[in-house]
Amino acid sequence: MFVGTDVELPATVKRFLDEPTRTMLIGDEWTAAQSGRTLDVTDPATERVIANVPDAGEEDVDRAVAAARSSLEGSWGRLMPVERQDLMLRLADVVADRGEEIAHLETLEQGKLLEFSRLVEVDMAVDYIRYMAGWATKIEGSTFEISPRQPEGVRYHAFTRREPVGVVAGIVPWNFPHLMAVWKIAPALATGCTIVLKPAEETPLTALLLGELILEAGFPPGVVNIVTGYGESAGAALVRHPGIDKVAFTGSTEVGKQIGAEAMRNMTRVSLELGGKSPVLVLDDVGADFIAGGMVGGLFFNSGQQCVAGSRLYAPHARFDEMVGRIADYADFLKLGSPFDPNVHIGPLVSKAQQDRVLGYIESGREDGAEVVVGGKSPSSTGFFVEPTVIVDTDHEMKIVREEIFGPVLVAMPYSDLDDLITKANDTDYGLAASVWGQNISRVLELLPRIKAGTIWVNTHSVLDANMPFGGFKMSGVGREHGRAALDHYTESKTVCIAY
Ligand code: NAP
Ligand code: MG
Repeated sequence: MFVGTDVELPATVKRFLDEPTRTMLIGDEWTAAQSGRTLDVTDPATERVIANVPDAGEEDVDRAVAAARSSLEGSWGRLMPVERQDLMLRLADVVADRGEEIAHLETLEQGKLLEFSRLVEVDMAVDYIRYMAGWATKIEGSTFEISPRQPEGVRYHAFTRREPVGVVAGIVPWNFPHLMAVWKIAPALATGCTIVLKPAEETPLTALLLGELILEAGFPPGVVNIVTGYGESAGAALVRHPGIDKVAFTGSTEVGKQIGAEAMRNMTRVSLELGGKSPVLVLDDVGADFIAGGMVGGLFFNSGQQCVAGSRLYAPHARFDEMVGRIADYADFLKLGSPFDPNVHIGPLVSKAQQDRVLGYIESGREDGAEVVVGGKSPSSTGFFVEPTVIVDTDHEMKIVREEIFGPVLVAMPYSDLDDLITKANDTDYGLAASVWGQNISRVLELLPRIKAGTIWVNTHSVLDANMPFGGFKMSGVGREHGRAALDHYTESKTVCIAY
């Protein structure tokens, strides 16, 4: 079902959009690209161009890295941890105060429901900044006894310090643009690093607004720089820049591999949060409504554009038709339409390219002999919508089972016993996340160590938190974000050994 609506935007968002060309933030300057080139930003629900932003090149990246370096070696580098904490807490307040503006802008450029922009892009971001602010005052090393035999009278004292890794390049995708920007910026700020952030080409607007708010909160210029542009030009220039000490990347496995290889040329530190094809393992004691409701949040939320999306479902043979039938009923019930409309459940995909990609996958499934039970097409001629889709009669040879679709598409398969279930769940190049659904706690606990994934949820899916380490096994990445784990890769460990 499709619902359309006209939207009245807050005056502040209109002001933001009325500027004919947005500039980007380098040091304390709002600047165009040196080349003068720009790129368009499109509202995916209406296909209208809503803004254009600088298309940064190598020379702009050079300036941004220089601004970040000079800030690291200047006043920012000399701040006490408590001063960084206070600035971050002020930033969290400013982001919360301007939350409606951020949420509207995010829904406009990305297409996620306004309600979720408020909850995820704003509230979770505010909580995340506050959480990371707390770590600024708790960065610590260790002390060691050392073991070599020593001449009479010589003793040693050894300890480690954790020091900021330096200038960070944060490169983020378009699925949760504001939250992802904060996930890169906040640990950098907490650990005393500086950062150059490159948002995705489709969704640069909330990152630019965040840049405004960072200056408003009182951060010294150059601590955070926002450079807009394309991955192949601005992004690649950042990754190979010798002035970058660490790359924090979230995006596809394909680009992640290139970035990892490029970073290693300069021994640039790198953390990679990549794609997934996360399995949903349903045991035979689960109610059909329970799992169907779970798939709304675990897959269809954000039009399936979640790296952790539970996109492969395995249900017991005997209950397969019942469970998948119920999921199809729920999928069919979901209303598509303007993400500003409170009666709508599913907004558009982010871009025409993404819509074509998702529809292409569904078509390839059909060609391979799979059956589309529900959905499978675009419901309107305007806007990049794809219906929530459930596909059966699939097997592990098919592209739709092996590759990340990044849209509202579920492939469902039956299993015979728990060994079959585990074999199928692990038969993937990815290892980002998984969920197990079951009432018998002993059976659930037995499965957990056998699943190869960085995060496993039980009786839920897609729950992320600042305090829970997050990252992938296998092709889903390198390193862990969030929690104490994040601090390790935004700092270097320095060992000190003193003879006395
Ligand atoms: P993408 O194409 O890999 O792009 C991600 C970012 O990298 C964008 O800013 C992109 O710029 C930039 N980029 C592209 N090529 C580059 C290069 N050669 N050098 C440096 N930067 C480059 O991914 P996407 O399509 O935006 O996002 C979807 C993917 O992200 C999915 O695979 C999803 O699973 C993954 N993801 C993972 C997580 C996680 O935490 N594990 C979270 C969310 C999303 P452009 O915008 O100009 O292309
Ligand atoms: Mg891209």
